[in-house]
Amino acid sequence: MNPLASPQTRRAVRAWSCRSQQRALAAAARAWLWRTLPALTRPLFAWPPIAPGATSAAAVYEPAVRSSTPVSAVLREHHGRDRFRNPWPSVGPSLTPGVLFKSVIKGEWARPGPAVVPTEPPAFLAPATADPPPDKLRATWLGQACFYLEMPSGLRVLTDPQLSERCAPPLLPSPPRVTPLPCTAADLPGVDVVVISHSHYDHLDVNSIAALVERFPGVHFLVPLGLERWFAQFGVTSVTELDWWDEREVSVGGRTGLFSCLPAQHETKRGLFDNNTTLWSSWSIDSGVRVYFSGDTGYSYVPPAPPGVDDHDMSAPVCPAFAEIGEHRGPFDLALIGIGAYQPRGRLSGVHCDPLDAVRLFRDVRARRGLAMHWGTWTLSAEPTLEPPRKLQDALVQFGMPPTGVFDVVPVGASREYAPV
Ligand SMILES: [Zn+2]
Repeated sequence: MNPLASPQTRRAVRAWSCRSQQRALAAAARAWLWRTLPALTRPLFAWPPIAPGATSAAAVYEPAVRSSTPVSAVLREHHGRDRFRNPWPSVGPSLTPGVLFKSVIKGEWARPGPAVVPTEPPAFLAPATADPPPDKLRATWLGQACFYLEMPSGLRVLTDPQLSERCAPPLLPSPPRVTPLPCTAADLPGVDVVVISHSHYDHLDVNSIAALVERFPGVHFLVPLGLERWFAQFGVTSVTELDWWDEREVSVGGRTGLFSCLPAQHETKRGLFDNNTTLWSSWSIDSGVRVYFSGDTGYSYVPPAPPGVDDHDMSAPVCPAFAEIGEHRGPFDLALIGIGAYQPRGRLSGVHCDPLDAVRLFRDVRARRGLAMHWGTWTLSAEPTLEPPRKLQDALVQFGMPPTGVFDVVPVGASREYAPV
């Protein structure tokens, strides 16, 4: 008798066929969910829409002579298979939802108590069309990573505009601001170019973008790779997206600046399924003076340490990009560098500088002066709100630098002026 024709064999074949069909169906369902869920959940993270109509007043073009770049610009190791990545050991392990959950359970994210951060109403220079134009840089901190830069050329640049009360997906509750808004988009005298460092809600805020586009329809946005599509879904097309070490000259009404999109050690996420699908960056802006904007970045990962133990390890790998930036785009007249959102260090040091990291970064990029940012605006981490400025002064002294006058902390809304060297 043919064993393949036996009733037992036929039953086994039918059962196997049934199981393989179930497996195929399950795989198809998983694939469909994976494809569809991001589209279904997108409205939760991209509302409200901005009315289209903005028309860039800027001429944007590649410079005739490219600036020098390091070998890493050619290797492009930050391009993963389908996501971007940090190609350095200095980033450490990523903060996955599971690790975050365990860390919260262990009490590592105790909320700091209330604090009063110094704040003052901002004051701006005469209009950029003034004759003669301003001969100095005026930098005004508007909280978190938002600086209003009035360049000596007359060009007016805004970094990571966060001029709203919210710092969260639209349908979720937002943590409250520690400091009140120093001003709104309507109070700014003019904005020619906006640079965006990455997609996190404290750096890319849809309400601020909407207000800017409405108030300044000619404004042009420079963004890292992948974010042009985010703007396009709101009808904002005056956007140029760049990869690390790409550069563009931007000219508005005869006022010109050279902008370089540069590396940073960070990550991106805005929805449930979009980890690192858009790039993160720092920026250099050269328009009469050279300014470095660090965006959001880590410098050197350190593992968790017991409370009260100095966890700085000078032998740990550091992000090599900053020395490259100093070599190929420096020296800078002014560097804007984050000093907050670093506790628990064992979870955040890979993606956020603490004050000592910030001073090391400041030295690497070859900056003459620095201003601190990314503290005292929202409570997004566990260190006491007023600790970063104190620690910055300690770190400056540790490196033999004066505690004030070189790398300073200013109140929210305050300005500092710098004459070209
Ligand atoms: Zn971030």
